[in-house]
Amino acid sequence: MAVDLTPETAVADLAQRTARFVREVVLPVEEEHRGVVRSDAVRTRLQTAAKEAGVFAPHVAPEYGGQGLDMRGRALVFEEAGYSLLGPLALNIAAPDEGNMHMLEAIATPAQQDRYLRPLATGAVRSCFAMTEPAPGAGSDPDALTTRAERVPGGWRIHGRKWFITGADGAGFAIVMARTTGEPGDRGGATMFLVDADNPGMKTVRHIETLDESLFGGHVELLFDDCFVSDEAVLGEVDEGFRYAQVRLGPARMTHCMRWLGIARRAQDIAVARAAERRLFGSRLADLGMVQQMIADNEIDIAASRGLITQACWELDEGRSGAQSTSIAKTFCAEAIHRVVDRSLQICGALGVSGDVLLGRFLREVRPFRIYDGSSETHRWAIARRTVKRHEQAAGR
Ligand SMILES: Cc1cc2nc3c(=O)[nH]c(=O)nc-3n(C[C@H](O)[C@H](O)[C@H](O)COP(=O)(O)OP(=O)(O)OC[C@H]3O[C@@H](n4cnc5c(N)ncnc54)[C@H](O)[C@@H]3O)c2cc1C
Repeated sequence: MAVDLTPETAVADLAQRTARFVREVVLPVEEEHRGVVRSDAVRTRLQTAAKEAGVFAPHVAPEYGGQGLDMRGRALVFEEAGYSLLGPLALNIAAPDEGNMHMLEAIATPAQQDRYLRPLATGAVRSCFAMTEPAPGAGSDPDALTTRAERVPGGWRIHGRKWFITGADGAGFAIVMARTTGEPGDRGGATMFLVDADNPGMKTVRHIETLDESLFGGHVELLFDDCFVSDEAVLGEVDEGFRYAQVRLGPARMTHCMRWLGIARRAQDIAVARAAERRLFGSRLADLGMVQQMIADNEIDIAASRGLITQACWELDEGRSGAQSTSIAKTFCAEAIHRVVDRSLQICGALGVSGDVLLGRFLREVRPFRIYDGSSETHRWAIARRTVKRHEQAAGR
């Protein structure tokens, strides 16, 4: 079977324009803020520039101002945006908003889309996705979900605690996963709720100090204390929350890989530029074998990551579940991207750990990716289980 990976002309053109926009407009802002922006004014300025450049929110449908890119189209454009830590924020394709837009497009009612998706797609508001809980609650094992929503006249009351909720500070609303049936440890029985930021029952407990700092709005602990929401706040069907989470998580895993692949390429560019000019022991660093090996291994990790992303995106575009291929791609990319950034820093010597280049910042940003969106160990466990099951089915057992 012939495989043609040539992108459509419009997608290739958008990727090129995104790359130019990131280099000309975003990189100077990243340099000024050392990769970490906390100001809404800067976010709005970047997003206004992206709108003017015609590269804003390319993933959402045209009726929401985007270009309706499929997953393979996103792979090209998001990688270019990810070349800067601030590129995804500028294009409004950063986590968690991008994944939330994807899910709202797929499962929200028309009224919910008008109220939540439309302003999210324009960048007028931000959002967060609240699933993870402090121990013993939901983390790698979602069935451990302890946050509860009880049915009351006219709606639901949510009780529970969430943590590591990215972007929660300043978000206009949260998508909250709560148990509506069964007990912690039971399979299923979760529902998603749309909770407005001004709901008095949703309280910010604290900002969690973390290794990474570049995701806008930080990582927050939230308390749901007798938090009343109406029936209109239910996203999708009651008790189907875990199924919908898969609608979000498979694609969101891949878009994270795409964006961080951009940072891996950037790290490699910084390292190669340094290796080409730095002279040691009578030769260029770039001509010393062990550095050549690191440069080559970076290229291999980048190319292999891109290949696995493409395969998984193709399956998602075909309407397949992509469970195995997104797990494989996520595990490989998270580890490969970390290796690339780490080797790039090593090639640069002391310069690499200095504030004169952003490699130290990149390293801190990519390390947690081996934990969120499913840790490497959770994915390896799931990959092995599916593989053994396939083997047993093939053997007729
Ligand atoms: C920077 C960052 C941002 C995040 N943003 C969000 C967010 O916006 N919303 C949200 O809901 N959550 C968010 N999370 C939480 C994230 O989804 C969880 O951290 C993740 O699901 C792991 O859960 P846990 O931290 O409770 O680790 P645990 O579940 O306690 O797991 C601990 C470790 O156990 C190991 N492990 C896991 N499964 C297996 C297995 N099957 N076999 C062997 N070992 C295993 C892994 O090494 C894992 O790291 C974020 C986390 C981070 C670090």
